[in-house]
Amino acid sequence: MNVKVVDLEFEPLITHEAIQKRLAVLGEQISKEYDGKLPVFLGVLNGSFLFIADLIRLIDIPCEVTFTKLASYFGGTASSRTVRNDIDLGVDIQGRHVIIVEDIIDSGNTLAYLIERLKVFKPASLKVCTLLSKTTAIEIFIQELAYVGFEIEKEFVVGYGLDYKEQGRNLKDIYRLVSA
Ligand code: 5GP
Repeated sequence: MNVKVVDLEFEPLITHEAIQKRLAVLGEQISKEYDGKLPVFLGVLNGSFLFIADLIRLIDIPCEVTFTKLASYFGGTASSRTVRNDIDLGVDIQGRHVIIVEDIIDSGNTLAYLIERLKVFKPASLKVCTLLSKTTAIEIFIQELAYVGFEIEKEFVVGYGLDYKEQGRNLKDIYRLVSA
């Protein structure tokens, strides 16, 4: 069923069940690859909060979780290509195995910026796990991109943590904008 978020109409794209099924696969894969490494999951707020909460419960090895806040959308439906500069990690990642947990990659600018900033702290390794990737929209090659939940078209999506004008984050499923 379509939903209205603020002033726009969205249609179903990925169900909550499909997300959970995919996360089980990712969780198992990450747990195997990081066994004995005590990884640090770094959630990029706000959009990744539900994704990381579900993913982390499927990780069955010791790990740590922390958050940082970056955004390039500022309430609209198109990437502004400027990223707010307020990095605060909450943990020392020097010598640590860090997995960045992102909600979605569009142009890749947000992630490329974050990766460069994090490298300065000299982590032992740095990888990215994103729920969604607009693969055809990516403008920058991101070598660290290791785990992708779903590849989607270049379209605007909401739900499961993702917002439109700060609303729609509470929707269980992921929806895409209905094109006029
Ligand atoms: P990028 O820098 O890759 O162009 O944009 C990445 C950020 O923009 C994401 O972390 C997310 O906050 C926001 N973003 C990109 N595409 C979408 C989308 O389709 N829906 C929503 N709600 N946010 C998006």
